[in-house]
Amino acid sequence: MSHSPFQNAQTQLKKALAYTHISEHATNILSQPKRVLEVAIPVRMDNGKTHIFTGFRSQYNDALGPFKGGIRFHPGVTADEVKALSLWMTIKCAVVGLPLGGGKGGVIVDPKTLSQGELERLSRGYIRALYKYLGPTIDVPAPDVYTNGQIMAWMLDEYETLVGEKTPGMITGKPLALGGSKGRDKATAQGGVFVLTELVKTLQKNPKELTVAIQGFGNAGSIVANLLAVEGYSIVAVSDSRGGIYKKDGLDIKNVEAHKTQTESVVSFPDADTITNEQLLELPVDILIPAALENVITEQNADRIQAKYILELANGPVTPEADELLHKKAIISIPDILANAGGVTVSYFEQVQNASNYAWTAEEVQAKLSHTMKTAFQEVWRLTKDQNISLRMAAYSVALVRISTAIDARG
Ligand code: NAD
Repeated sequence: MSHSPFQNAQTQLKKALAYTHISEHATNILSQPKRVLEVAIPVRMDNGKTHIFTGFRSQYNDALGPFKGGIRFHPGVTADEVKALSLWMTIKCAVVGLPLGGGKGGVIVDPKTLSQGELERLSRGYIRALYKYLGPTIDVPAPDVYTNGQIMAWMLDEYETLVGEKTPGMITGKPLALGGSKGRDKATAQGGVFVLTELVKTLQKNPKELTVAIQGFGNAGSIVANLLAVEGYSIVAVSDSRGGIYKKDGLDIKNVEAHKTQTESVVSFPDADTITNEQLLELPVDILIPAALENVITEQNADRIQAKYILELANGPVTPEADELLHKKAIISIPDILANAGGVTVSYFEQVQNASNYAWTAEEVQAKLSHTMKTAFQEVWRLTKDQNISLRMAAYSVALVRISTAIDARG
């Protein structure tokens, strides 16, 4: 049993390689990150003292295009986690056919303990430490857990100051005023809804008869709750880092959101039972959506999962051991590398708009995202049926063929 996300990611990769015939050369190249950077980021704190934060950037593979992946600010960040996330990004970009490689960054910090000024200085410090390795044609960061558009804006400003030119395409998830794309905020959740809708349609189910539990109520989790509620799904449970709430007949998501804005948590929402994050995962629902952190479904609790379908909006929420157990129970998991690829897809659209100095309408973004996600789902679904393999293995297979073709073409 391993809880090292990178070991988990490598286990998945090795398993997928058994189903996919790619060259030995490409297999070797994909066995480790191309470059992993660890930096010390000195930040002047409000009390006048200097605190040194540790930051990382893992650049896994760039055969298909520049490295691409978010930056996470979280106390649990490790080099191992960042490496795993950069491998998943490599696969994810290829599953949906983007001309991008995979990278990921992080800083060991609890941003909730920082003032706005400290957060800005840390964000700028991250770029000062790493800017030589970043750029629109080199490596393009974006938001991830506990980072947002404002942080991207500070990072862009620092980068442009250092290089002395306007390069909006060096980072995505920016505010609209700085060249952000319409629809980026909800892209991860929206992409997840597009693939879930394809699955539900393919299985001829009625959304109005399906119940949903969602772990994590941040960018991915809260928006997917809203979008699914509009489609008629019944959202019976949600949670955040402080705990969860459950209402058998369905929660009013707009009211839960208002409660979270007021109190900073969904916990203590009136008119619902309080549950733990662990209990949320084991509820008798049709659809379970992990949308917080990795390794939440393990061999310890996989047997108790009652959901029929899992939409992995979080990265790496299911360990390889748990994956086998869920597969045996005939639970259908839409894997992270497909389920949450909407975020990076609209990040790519953002870069395309930046490169042509032109902004698309929200409708254009939505239509292109819908096309990308539905095409990717159908391609992966076909392979699942043809080869009788899980959606995860099929998604890896589609991606590995694309990446290895690029690696081999480079010689
Ligand atoms: P976020 O910071 O907006 O939200 C994170 C949520 O997780 C918060 O509600 C937080 O309270 C909750 N959380 C934190 N620790 C928890 C714990 N121990 N137990 C339960 N809940 C906890 O982050 P996000 O952008 O929504 O990202 C969530 C997941 O989605 C991550 O795995 C991320 O890598 C993945 N993801 C996000 C994007 C994106 O575009 N935002 C894209 C792809 C994947």
